Amino acid sequence: EPWALEATDLRKTFATGRAGLRRTKVSAVDGVSLRLRAGESLGIVGESGCGKSTLARMLVGLESPDSGNIQIAGRPIGDNRRELSRHVQMVFQDPYTSLDPRMTVQELISEPLTVHRIGTAAERRDRVAELLRLVGLSPEMMARYPHQFSGGQRQRIGIARALALEPRVLICDEPVSALDVSVQAQVVNLLRDLQRRMGIALVFIAHDLSVVRHIADRTAVMYLGRLAETGDTADVFDSPAHPYTQALLSASPVVDPTRRRRLADRIVLAGDPPNPTNPPSGCRFHTRCHIAVAECATTQPQMLSVGGGWAAACHLAQREPADSSTS
Ligand code: SF4
Ligand code: MG
Repeated sequence: EPWALEATDLRKTFATGRAGLRRTKVSAVDGVSLRLRAGESLGIVGESGCGKSTLARMLVGLESPDSGNIQIAGRPIGDNRRELSRHVQMVFQDPYTSLDPRMTVQELISEPLTVHRIGTAAERRDRVAELLRLVGLSPEMMARYPHQFSGGQRQRIGIARALALEPRVLICDEPVSALDVSVQAQVVNLLRDLQRRMGIALVFIAHDLSVVRHIADRTAVMYLGRLAETGDTADVFDSPAHPYTQALLSASPVVDPTRRRRLADRIVLAGDPPNPTNPPSGCRFHTRCHIAVAECATTQPQMLSVGGGWAAACHLAQREPADSSTS
């Protein structure tokens, strides 16, 4: 069984303007590799500007990588956007701007089917009714327009539209951060439920760690365009191996207080991330790392295995001692 999604060494740089005679560039994503099985969910976390959204846009074909490649179910996608859209769909952050206000719900949800010439008009209408029920909305709502719905309902419409083609992979970029807190959990639970029932590979991008802990089987932590740590969500959240993950979790209330004792001290993440047009040499985290050594400023750390399917890009990352892995 091939990986549902396999992204290898993706890189993306944007030109941002000029500083005197020099063109300035941002290395938004710098060598990120990810693999995901059908029915598995991967959370991607990191501060804003870490490259999460650029990564998401490459995975769904809205940006093409400068280098690296993406395979869906073992097949390279290359530049075939149409083929990619058949298998990889996206749920966007803002349900207020991502749905065309001039289209009815029926038109919005059936558009991907129309574009791919799937079914007759009557069959598409039936499919829209089925999709509306799937996301917890009434099929009677299909003649209405987006402005007649709440934010949570609009995001359900966005999810129905993204599922219309039965994609293998669903990319969700901060899908609940624009919603009222009171409806966030409902939408997250809906996504998790649909993902499991339909066997979709889900990539869930969020800055809210508690949401990722809830929905993701595995978690990837990004810092300034690179992966800091990847592993099973329970491992990453309960005993983070990378100092940046430790700092992120230490700053957030999601860690179980009995586990938090395992961190030597409460780690304060000082300041904002450095300017991505001029990222630090060596380990990009070294300017904020509380345990940096001289090597960190000169040598980029590679991903080191710290356990089964668990890795961290840190010169000082160590395999978990055998005695604590059983506790
Ligand atoms: Fe900190 Fe060095 Fe590890 Fe980077 S490589 S996280 S600077 S200890
Ligand atoms: Mg973003």
